[in-house]
Amino acid sequence: MTLVPIATPDHPVWLHVGTLLDGSHVAPAKDAHVVYDATGIRFVGRDGQTPPANLVRPGQTAPDVVAPDATLLPGLIDAHTHLFLEGGELDLDKRAAALKQSSAELLNAALPRLEKLVRLGLAGVRDAGDKDGVGLALSRLCKSQVGPVSDRTLGQSKTGPTLMPYLDSPGAAIHHRGRYGSFMGGAVEEFASPADCVAARVADGADRIKLIPTGIINFQKGAVTAEPQMTTEELRAFVAAAGATGRQTLAHASGDAGIERVVEGGVDSVEHGFFMRDDQLQRMRDRRTAWVPTFAPVQMQVDEAARYNWDANVTGNLQRILDAHAASLVKAHALGVTILAGSDAGSCGVAHGLGLLYEMELMERAGLPAAAVIHAATGAAADRLAFGQKIGRIAPGWLSRFILTRHSPLATVKNLRRARTVVFDGCVFETDETFDATGL
Ligand SMILES: [Zn+2]
Repeated sequence: MTLVPIATPDHPVWLHVGTLLDGSHVAPAKDAHVVYDATGIRFVGRDGQTPPANLVRPGQTAPDVVAPDATLLPGLIDAHTHLFLEGGELDLDKRAAALKQSSAELLNAALPRLEKLVRLGLAGVRDAGDKDGVGLALSRLCKSQVGPVSDRTLGQSKTGPTLMPYLDSPGAAIHHRGRYGSFMGGAVEEFASPADCVAARVADGADRIKLIPTGIINFQKGAVTAEPQMTTEELRAFVAAAGATGRQTLAHASGDAGIERVVEGGVDSVEHGFFMRDDQLQRMRDRRTAWVPTFAPVQMQVDEAARYNWDANVTGNLQRILDAHAASLVKAHALGVTILAGSDAGSCGVAHGLGLLYEMELMERAGLPAAAVIHAATGAAADRLAFGQKIGRIAPGWLSRFILTRHSPLATVKNLRRARTVVFDGCVFETDETFDATGL
């Protein structure tokens, strides 16, 4: 790959690529020109359209990089992560011990993950909650990144801003006392009403409101066996209170009874959504309710079945659940449901960053075209999740966060693991399969 120069606020870079995926639904552009600086994208031209002279460097008449065999796509967005947990850790004793760490220790372990996410090609993550304030601290850190971008991206400021993807967080998830979710949330019973609970989360700094209306899958039974913890009315109260403060809601929901309540409750996104029914998908499409199917944590249980001593009954259940989930995903895509890629990184065996690449592979394996998977991990998230920064698209005015690769991701999204150049606010990283995933 021709080396991509570093861009600063005053020194734009001009790329000429064979294929451009801009993050939208629009078909890939051929023969595209993109000009950007460290603060954002200045120009995007399709079908050979070149930039005007005032957007490139004085006197510049040719691109800095000509790569007719390369594809340029937006930096990726993981719509469901838990930054407070090390996902790659498979040892259950070590995972249990990690959860007993102090908030400060959990935050210290999370901080080095941020630059690694950037180097892997992630432009942003939506954290899905923790009770220890890790996500909120990282969200505050992200909002504090107001110094000159060039200082940050050129590594000139060792004590200054941190190289990190965009990140926002709901803080502590909300569940019912005695029910699933205490390891990442707090109980609504601590407050007089859902509205008071939401107000407290907002006062803590929550960017969104994370709800836990259901339990999780019972692998032995191959079903969600517990009754949902929240009623439809209760969910509507949470959604209304969150909406009054301009915040979206995301709801952990598996089992069709619980999914029914969150869809009717009006949440912005259904997380996991195992055992989704077709009529529920149709209503989600009509209401623009997003779906984040999170295949990875369940697939990891199949991949690591021997390690966890799962017997034939359990592995059979897991595979049946995953097959049904895949069929639902294909139906959702055909219906036009807003599908977002979220790895549930931090879950057992799902490493941050790499977990998103795996989730994308699983969505492709389920039957989604590669272009749809890439859209789910870029522009679809940008359109639906109201991020605080312009990430997920390649268009004028959006941040200059891209992946440039000669291994076409349209052939298979597995190619996103192979050698690639990551551009992040003008800074340039070369990343490939040898990436050190320690601590993710
Ligand atoms: Zn989660």
